[in-house]
Amino acid sequence: MAHASERTGSSTGRRALARRELGRGERVLPGVYRLRLPLPWPGVPHCNAWAVRAGDGVVLFDTGMHQPDSLAHLERALEMCGLALEQVRLVVCTHAHSDHYGQAATIVERTGCELWMHPNHEHMKRMAEDPDAVLDRRIEVARHSGVPEEPLRQWASQRRARDSGIAGVIEPDRDLCTGITIDTDLGSWVVHETPGHAPSHVCLFQPERRLLISGDHLLGRISLYFDYGYTPDPVGEFCNSLGVVERLGARLCLPGHGRTFADVQAHINGNRTLVGERLEAVLTAIRDTPLTAFEIVPHVYGDSLSGQNAHWLLSKILCYLTHLRLEGRARSIAGEPERWVA
Ligand SMILES: [Zn+2]
Ligand SMILES: [Zn+2]
Repeated sequence: MAHASERTGSSTGRRALARRELGRGERVLPGVYRLRLPLPWPGVPHCNAWAVRAGDGVVLFDTGMHQPDSLAHLERALEMCGLALEQVRLVVCTHAHSDHYGQAATIVERTGCELWMHPNHEHMKRMAEDPDAVLDRRIEVARHSGVPEEPLRQWASQRRARDSGIAGVIEPDRDLCTGITIDTDLGSWVVHETPGHAPSHVCLFQPERRLLISGDHLLGRISLYFDYGYTPDPVGEFCNSLGVVERLGARLCLPGHGRTFADVQAHINGNRTLVGERLEAVLTAIRDTPLTAFEIVPHVYGDSLSGQNAHWLLSKILCYLTHLRLEGRARSIAGEPERWVA
């Protein structure tokens, strides 16, 4: 799922894209390798998979997206670290978005290793197994949220042509619930459930070294996204998950996109502040005049709405509205389209 920075635009130039289009690998700590894999998304040029040494092989945390040549990018990145795909002994996914899970089926097929992931991955399964049904539902939600017919039609036809980015749906061999551990040469990594960004999201913490594999829960450039429509309150769940990670006291974060960062607490605070700002912006927009979710978007995000980010922004607004409704700070007015008032 896309994670363009919320505070800066996506002005990635053609030259920058060309420089970034290959998978690259680098050692970040003894026995820990960052595999930077290209993505086709505007403003989100790559994602990370993390290889951690375990005996004669590695545990691979996240996989990159499935695309033409994506396996070659992964193999190239591994090779730059002196590793090979055949050494993968276990695939662990932080969550079931295509950029973190997309190549799981291919890697498992190639290596015979196991896949471990959180059981709440229905959001991915529905998308991979019946993309048309998911798209139809999204169109229905968008129409109900006030998106005008013509841009919606254009968006839908672009989406229908798009690949899911997932090689195939495979069920995890083991459910990654809080407390499960993953053994590596650096010691055991403990699973902590951190839903919000996605219902299936977990973070992995190595307590002796205080290392955190954070997936998309914490990113270097603060960026929020919540899967809408699968759990009662994604924004509330995300805020709870920030508390879960805060209590761990990590000293280095290995995120799902971008470089490692050490000021973990500052990133947790930054996420909390941004959620608070977004909720306030939504409330301010609907203080006097009832608006549809679509009409709220420019009040919160300026005029940045485009065909590329429309679904992303609308999902977030719907999650903020859901949270405000649960808190008793906003209510919806039944109708077609649905409107909201503070
Ligand atoms: Zn994600
Ligand atoms: Zn991601």
